[in-house]
Amino acid sequence: VSTIGIVGGGQLGRMLAMAAARLGIRTVILEPQADCPAAQVANAQIVAAYDDPEALAELAKRCDVVTYEFENVPVAAAAQLAQSVAVFPPPRALEVSQDRLVEKRFINECGIATAPFEAIDSQADLDAALEAFGGIGVLKTRRLGYDGKGQRVFRSPAENRAGAFEALGAVPQILEGLIAFEREISIIAARAADGTIACYDPAENVHRNGILHTSTVPAAISEATADQARRAARAILDRLGYVGVIGVEFFALADGQLLANEMAPRVHNSGHWTEAACIISQFEQHIRAVAGLTLGDPRRHSDCLMQNLIGDDIADVPAWLNTPDVLVHLYGKTDARPGRKMGHITELR
Ligand code: ATP
Ligand code: MG
Ligand code: MG
Repeated sequence: VSTIGIVGGGQLGRMLAMAAARLGIRTVILEPQADCPAAQVANAQIVAAYDDPEALAELAKRCDVVTYEFENVPVAAAAQLAQSVAVFPPPRALEVSQDRLVEKRFINECGIATAPFEAIDSQADLDAALEAFGGIGVLKTRRLGYDGKGQRVFRSPAENRAGAFEALGAVPQILEGLIAFEREISIIAARAADGTIACYDPAENVHRNGILHTSTVPAAISEATADQARRAARAILDRLGYVGVIGVEFFALADGQLLANEMAPRVHNSGHWTEAACIISQFEQHIRAVAGLTLGDPRRHSDCLMQNLIGDDIADVPAWLNTPDVLVHLYGKTDARPGRKMGHITELR
């Protein structure tokens, strides 16, 4: 493989392109926004919509394999690409992770527990499901939610639920049980075309305003709980015949039991620490997998804390640059809007 196509030009695409470059592999990104983070490091960019048939044909022609950096690549686009070029992870992984209802059913089919859930297609569905859940739960749009957007939490049966279905856009939704988790963890794992699997150590994640704030490794979980996470990741990867890196998020209950929350068929924010605390980062691991190279050793050589730099946090960069054992990683974005991921730091400890 000499050239990899990447659909999507955000920071994940940028970091994939950097990893590819270090292995002597060229990258071509498909991204409608010309001044995107990945444009600064990829070898070439096709400036077009993700579902533009001509652009997709051009990408397929110029690359030996195509991957993606976000899970909302239109499934039809992935299918078009797959007719003329290898697409990894498999398009089926997109289909599953684009819809929270399909995703939760799939995860259960893999033998992995989730929060209880119910499909919601009307206010009447919501009223009935909330009744069954004791008036408490998390309502989410089935599609296109990220960073906690498109969600509404019902913390008590006394809460007013009138109009809640409309308020989330009257699109297909899902009601989940509100889980009183002890902590949140995630696992980053990779599967090669020959079925080999490599798992990084689970990270413990803290969210702020619905956005990932920190990932700490090791997570404060037992070996048995870590093993549950690894087995869950393996089950998902094998069932999808997956090639590439995946991120799976879990709620850890007080008894150590895990409930899977969601999966991302791509490199994941809670795996950014791997670039500082492992020899082979999740980005290189993904490039290796989709390029048909052997997977790298996922072993962690240091304990660490990754912290996202969101919006104004960018002002802390000079201080971070002066802090020993801290790796600063910026995405080349100029407009530090509130809630925007500008970069991250990883502190070795
Ligand atoms: P991401 O940016 O990780 O893709 P998202 O918008 O897809 O986020 P989720 O991961 O489903 O949304 O939810 C965001 C956060 O909200 C979770 O990490 C968790 O803290 C909380 N949360 C979500 N679902 C539940 C639940 N059923 N019970 C308790 N807390 C929940
Ligand atoms: Mg998500
Ligand atoms: Mg999430």
